[in-house]
Amino acid sequence: MTAPAFPYISTRGAAPPATFDDILLAGLARDGGLYVPEAWPAWTADTLERWRGHSYAGLAAEICAPFMAGSAAAADLPALAEASYAGFDDPAVAPLVPLEDGLYLQELFHGPTLAFKDYALQLVGRLFDAVLAARGERITVVGATSGDTGPAGIAACAGREAIDIFMLHPAGRTSEVQRRQMTTVPDGNVFNIAVDGTFDDCQDLVKALFADDALRDRVNLSAVNSINWARVMGQIVYYVHAALQVGGQGNASERAVSFAVPTGNFGNVFAGYGARRCGLPVGRLIVGSNANDILTRFFRHNAMEIRGVTPTLSPSMDIQVSSNFERLLFDLLDRDGAAVESAIRAFRTGGSLPLDEARWQRATALFRGASLDDEGTIGLMRSVFERTGRQIDPHTAVGLAAARECRGGGDPVVVLATAHPAKFPDAVERATGRRPALPPHLADLHARAERCVTMAKDSARLTDYVLANARTVRG
Ligand SMILES: *Cc1c(COP(=O)(O)O)cnc(C)c1O
Repeated sequence: MTAPAFPYISTRGAAPPATFDDILLAGLARDGGLYVPEAWPAWTADTLERWRGHSYAGLAAEICAPFMAGSAAAADLPALAEASYAGFDDPAVAPLVPLEDGLYLQELFHGPTLAFKDYALQLVGRLFDAVLAARGERITVVGATSGDTGPAGIAACAGREAIDIFMLHPAGRTSEVQRRQMTTVPDGNVFNIAVDGTFDDCQDLVKALFADDALRDRVNLSAVNSINWARVMGQIVYYVHAALQVGGQGNASERAVSFAVPTGNFGNVFAGYGARRCGLPVGRLIVGSNANDILTRFFRHNAMEIRGVTPTLSPSMDIQVSSNFERLLFDLLDRDGAAVESAIRAFRTGGSLPLDEARWQRATALFRGASLDDEGTIGLMRSVFERTGRQIDPHTAVGLAAARECRGGGDPVVVLATAHPAKFPDAVERATGRRPALPPHLADLHARAERCVTMAKDSARLTDYVLANARTVRG
């Protein structure tokens, strides 16, 4: 007997409730909304105590199980979680490092591509494969990357039986490390396409593929983007993992921990919110922004206003509109899908999110925000290095600055270190005078053979290329 399915609902309220397997494969809901759990699993103090001492993979299986009730992958979950983190290059998977008084860094860069996205995506790729195998289906993942999402997406899909992945990047416009993290992956189901053009050209090409209904059906087009619920689920794990360690002696449920998260799409910090909704004692959730500080302006002044995107030293947070914020907005608007729909429409057309004072205050009871510009980022990276000998990446520096500015109440605070310093070597060298070395599993990255085709911005050619190479061609 399988467990009854755990239901998910759309933040816009107009799509029918769906199962985990449906939303895993669908991504966005049909009404344009994002899926959220209809109700959160409830962890008691005893649950948290029982989890203390679990391995990272064991904890992941425990946390994901209720979210995946009824899934075709549910029975395999412990083994899939085990396999997901087996290749990480630190035995603790997400080690916690004390940095200064009551403040810790949680290193989320021990996966294959050196950024926190691996923590969820390594599991999500395996869940896709398991669910697709059970359904006898295959998918073709197509994506565009400016350099950061591509490697993690490819690492998640490489070698998976039921998936082919085509990743577009702008030729010559990613860093060499980023390009090589994509093009040196040897698996036959990975196709790298360097487009003669910009990141926007790549995105236009991807949009054109998704707009082609005949192609969509023939190759079962899909995406592994940050609005997929399964990514949020996979990220909840490290919040719990950190809190169980920092909670230290005594009952984890008695000592609240705050988290500081360098944020772009709000997906990572929303997982912290999810952990709290399930019962983890979380003090504050502190959002760190670079010069693209729309979220910080919201949490400080209730001013979520669209401005242009400024390129910064922390490029993975150079984002204008944080797509996952809609999940929080849904709760702030008392889970009224129609109200979310109209607020988002007003935001998109008028450039500013209307939210009354009382609801905004509910948000700021938990969330704080602070921003740090590039000069401040370099300065902070330098001072941490001078004081401790530790190199931190620019995204982590943004989180650390926010933690120092916004922590309160004496809670310990955990800063999520979202990338390895060697992923952003130019900024790190500028700040510390030393070029950070790649970890051993990537030490020969520059000697590995690359596979990549180069293409003009031509959607007909791209379509032909996908049809010629995807294993899922029907009719
Ligand atoms: C993607 C990314 C972020 C932003 O994560 P969100 O979930 O979009 O908030 C921060 N830091 C690094 C290194 C990233 O790769």
